[in-house]
Amino acid sequence: MCRRDEAGLFFAPSKEPTAARLAREEAAKRVCARCPVMVECREHALLQPEPYGVWGGLTAAERRVVLARRRRREVELRKAAATERIAQAG
Ligand code: SF4
Repeated sequence: MCRRDEAGLFFAPSKEPTAARLAREEAAKRVCARCPVMVECREHALLQPEPYGVWGGLTAAERRVVLARRRRREVELRKAAATERIAQAG
């Protein structure tokens, strides 16, 4: 499937027009949706992080959103834990 990427679905060619990019990404996502390792692939791409291409059904821009959300959640959890420690100490 994406390993050979013979259809060129997963990575953008240079100077790709927006409409073509959106269509290509949707086609790649349809392949990902049928892939047995989609969850693992997505997590790998998020952890690396992979800066380009469709991985695990997410575009690079969508992965950046997920990562930003995760970072915000981590900060909130750390703040909550710190507040809890202060409350317990006080
Ligand atoms: S989920 Fe990952 S391994 Fe599966 S088709 Fe998509 S990019 Fe390829």
